Amino acid sequence: MNLTRSKSNEDRLVINKLLGDNHILIPDADELAPAEKIKLIEKKFRDIMLILGLDLTDDSLKDTPLRVAKMYVNETFSGLLPENEPSITLFDNKYNYSEMLIEKNIPVYSCCEHHFVPIIGKAHIGYISGGKVIGLSKLNRIVHYFAKRPQVQERLTVQVAEYLKEALGTENVAVMMEAEHLCVASRGVRDVGSSTITSSYHGQFLDPVKRNEFNLQIKH
Ligand SMILES: [Zn+2]
Repeated sequence: MNLTRSKSNEDRLVINKLLGDNHILIPDADELAPAEKIKLIEKKFRDIMLILGLDLTDDSLKDTPLRVAKMYVNETFSGLLPENEPSITLFDNKYNYSEMLIEKNIPVYSCCEHHFVPIIGKAHIGYISGGKVIGLSKLNRIVHYFAKRPQVQERLTVQVAEYLKEALGTENVAVMMEAEHLCVASRGVRDVGSSTITSSYHGQFLDPVKRNEFNLQIKH
């Protein structure tokens, strides 16, 4: 099951909005094929390097524009391509497991949309089944999909929560994220060691008892 894939771009934008995916994409965001995007970015990145005064005939630098372009399209911003949306496998909750399930310490490698430098952290996800359960690795894949975009941590947290609610057919979802922003650590105030915590609680997780249980479990 894919919530947004194989829809027209217009439909996808509408569905993405419903999923809390308020990424501001231009209407023809998907018009260029990934290979064309790589070609164009390579050219532009070459220009940036030349403006900075770098010698692009140097062995070490000459392939950097293409390397960066490939990395942007295929890795760092791969979550902007709808074809990379993970396909979600759900199973019946045969054991009637009614407690919360927590997947914690999911690695987050994202990119600050204000400075285009890394956001590095961890996500913790909890849900209480509404009849269906999800393959565990899919939780990681959903985090990765939304992380591989220019992001702010607040949006990333909400997107993962909203997507999961829709995919699992339940409101009972909690997402917590803690991350270090290299734009804070390596430039500006150079505040190494500070981290940002965001959370998005829904359904039964709005109940302080459930919320505390979740928070306690992810601290272990
Ligand atoms: Zn930043």
